[in-house]
Amino acid sequence: MTNLFETTEQFALQMDKQDPLAHFRDRFFLPGKTIYMDGNSLGLMPKDSEESIHRVMREWKTQAIDGWLQAKIPWFYMAETLGALAAPLVGAEENEVVCTGTTTVNLHSLISTFYHTQGKRTKILADELNFPSDIYALKGQIKLKGLPVENNLVLVPSVASDNQLLDENKIIEAMTDEIAVALFPSVLYRSGQLLDIPLLTKKAHEKGIIIGFDCSHSVGGVPHHFDQWDVDFAFWCSYKYMNGGPGSPAFLYINKRHFQKEPLLAGWFGCIKEKQFDMSLDFEYTRAAGGWQISSPSALSAAAVQGALKVHLEVGIERIREKSIRLTEYLIFLVDHLLPPGKYNISIATPRNPERRSGHVAIRGNDNTWRIHQALKAGGIIPDFRPPNMIRFAPIALYNTFHEVWQTINRLKQIIDNKEYESFPAERSAIT
Ligand SMILES: *Cc1c(COP(=O)(O)O)cnc(C)c1O
Repeated sequence: MTNLFETTEQFALQMDKQDPLAHFRDRFFLPGKTIYMDGNSLGLMPKDSEESIHRVMREWKTQAIDGWLQAKIPWFYMAETLGALAAPLVGAEENEVVCTGTTTVNLHSLISTFYHTQGKRTKILADELNFPSDIYALKGQIKLKGLPVENNLVLVPSVASDNQLLDENKIIEAMTDEIAVALFPSVLYRSGQLLDIPLLTKKAHEKGIIIGFDCSHSVGGVPHHFDQWDVDFAFWCSYKYMNGGPGSPAFLYINKRHFQKEPLLAGWFGCIKEKQFDMSLDFEYTRAAGGWQISSPSALSAAAVQGALKVHLEVGIERIREKSIRLTEYLIFLVDHLLPPGKYNISIATPRNPERRSGHVAIRGNDNTWRIHQALKAGGIIPDFRPPNMIRFAPIALYNTFHEVWQTINRLKQIIDNKEYESFPAERSAIT
């Protein structure tokens, strides 16, 4: 595919002209004159989200308590309504998905239901490249069982210490009869590697292991087929590829086969709706993903997610993925041609097979990478930096252009060629 691209600016502009999704860029607020390549950390604000937030604000002003049942999307059912809307993005039935809580809270909630020790099956299987919050949560859950973490958390190591990649065969080898539950990210947040979810699920089930996935770095950019793959559970944030806004409510998926299981991080929003206001002290939880809600939905934040979902559903996840692959293929092509490895001390850390990566491309640099990152930002290009030496570029199908990718990599080359990074400090700031 890569030989279909050319390095000229003219070519980039031509790609934009032929892009069937180009007009969706107008549906987003673009931050000033910048080139935003950080949509995998915080997606840009959809104009539809502003509209839906304003709607809920008006409802709060004019309906007050009645908004719980009379708002356009009644707040009482907001979590279930947004879950049903998001279900097609992940190949699930409407009641298998709910928009609730936050990523890490949902992880706690799901693990507390699915982590059952039996005989020597006491361990959790995860990997050493996962997002730290997930690992903290798993350690906490093991301690809550009164078990020592050292013996009960098995972390699959990366293929090589510096490459930020996992080998599915190594994961499968680690699926022993001592593992009770396995948790993996769909996508490794640094390298962008997309794991083979159907394969891992199949192998886990052959070994009697429950398996779940943190899909924060894939939902909204990559199609999922949770039901078809038979995944046990999943959860993901809504502020990265889903554009739901900073700290927006997260999602969780429960395979309907598990609806009878008990939500142990229980809360009254998990009740059967018709009975919630009976205020009974017996927790009669709903036999659906909604049972895993804990608290009242955050209606204003959820409104932002609703606006964002509207855009996604209009475009369709398959078309998003198609353009996303073209954008990342093009970015890799430009790096290969403008910054060839023989001449430049940088390399692509992301898998080159598009089927094995999500929506960002990570470039591994050298000791100057943090300073190069700052030079990019000073010139209005916003990627993100992950220590010790990775810059991630996420060209987002819904709002980035091929011309922006062209400008980004040409600017990167200029910064390195002219040693412009030398005027930036080597110390890092708190949020990168
Ligand atoms: C972004 C992300 C999180 C974030 O957790 P919050 O609880 O939303 O702060 C967790 N896990 C992964 C894999 C992520 O990419």
